[in-house]
Amino acid sequence: MLKTPAYAAESAKAPLVPFSVERREPGPSDVLIDILYCGVCHSDIHQARDEWGGSTFPMVPGHEIVGRVARVGGSVTRFKVGDAVGVGCMVDSCRECAQCRTGEEQYCDHGAVMTYNGRGRDGTPTQGGYSTLITVDESFVLRIPESIPLDRAAPLLCAGITTYSPLRHFGLKAGDKLAVVGLGGLGHMGVKFGKALGAEVTVLSTSPSKEKAAKELGAAHFAATSDKDTFKRLAGQFDVILDTVSAPHDYNAYLSLLKVDGTMILVGAPEAPVPLAAFSLIARRRKLVGSLIGGIRETQEMLDFCGEHELASDIELIPIQKINEAYERMIKGDVRYRFVIDIASLR
Ligand code: NAP
Ligand code: ZN
Repeated sequence: MLKTPAYAAESAKAPLVPFSVERREPGPSDVLIDILYCGVCHSDIHQARDEWGGSTFPMVPGHEIVGRVARVGGSVTRFKVGDAVGVGCMVDSCRECAQCRTGEEQYCDHGAVMTYNGRGRDGTPTQGGYSTLITVDESFVLRIPESIPLDRAAPLLCAGITTYSPLRHFGLKAGDKLAVVGLGGLGHMGVKFGKALGAEVTVLSTSPSKEKAAKELGAAHFAATSDKDTFKRLAGQFDVILDTVSAPHDYNAYLSLLKVDGTMILVGAPEAPVPLAAFSLIARRRKLVGSLIGGIRETQEMLDFCGEHELASDIELIPIQKINEAYERMIKGDVRYRFVIDIASLR
């Protein structure tokens, strides 16, 4: 076993503290990765504080992992020592069900093995990327295009694929009017992908101070949701709404902004349910849909798309010692637009 320093939450009420985990020696199809950077996703906070229920502790969060290959098992064909690689939210799945066979492992019938707060197929708890090493089967390792700086690539492994996948799946087209709700880690990638796919993007935000940055990221328009006039002025305007908000909010108000046949995509995962009025959908044949990250093949497609279009995340690099402060700032919406941990601070 390989001992690696890490940061962990020991309970839902405790801050993250220095910790140590053991990684398996690479088996024949495994890649051992020296982690260089790990993005900080709001899902890390939801799970470390057990807001969704069912969390297991101690928990080393982190599923936006980027690093370099340190060692490969004997049957690994796709990677060699030194390659720039990434690991996202999943490290395994059954590989046999209909979803796994079509490359949508995130919807595995037996439950994909999540990178942390999960259980490997051998039953051992999984631990995430707030650590210096990880061993992952090569089928769940992604290649990072040379043109993307590694620290700015890390958030693509979750925030990137979670916004890219539904915009593609639900058919966002050039010329469509897209609203992105919430300008955090996911939201800012939603703006970048929306613009790259040719949509006219509006950011709907609780933070008026983000207007200038929203436009620099590629949004054509910005509207403050604290201004009640926003919901009257923009009623019935959008083809697609991408909702990335991490806290409970009124879905009905946002649905009213869709055109006839418009689609609102939920990717934000607040801990509490929110009432839905049937007429929010019925009155204009609207669709309310959800989407979970994306499969491994599509994650590689998204990374290659970012490489070609020179897209990457806008980040604030932090040492691991600032992780608890970063969580508090994210909860206040004070993030521009993704915290990324410099894992050198843990060595
Ligand atoms: P984040 O960086 O903290 O951004 C969330 C943004 O939501 C905030 O910056 C803020 O933007 C807005 N917001 C926060 N509280 C709000 C409130 N009470 N009302 C309205 N807006 C509010 O979080 P993230 O990492 O992007 O994650 C966002 C959500 O997506 C989380 O719930 C996370 O768990 C979920 N997620 C889902 C998937 C999936 O597969 N579906 C994958 C990853 C993450 P403004 O300041 O612009 O208002
Ligand atoms: Zn995430």
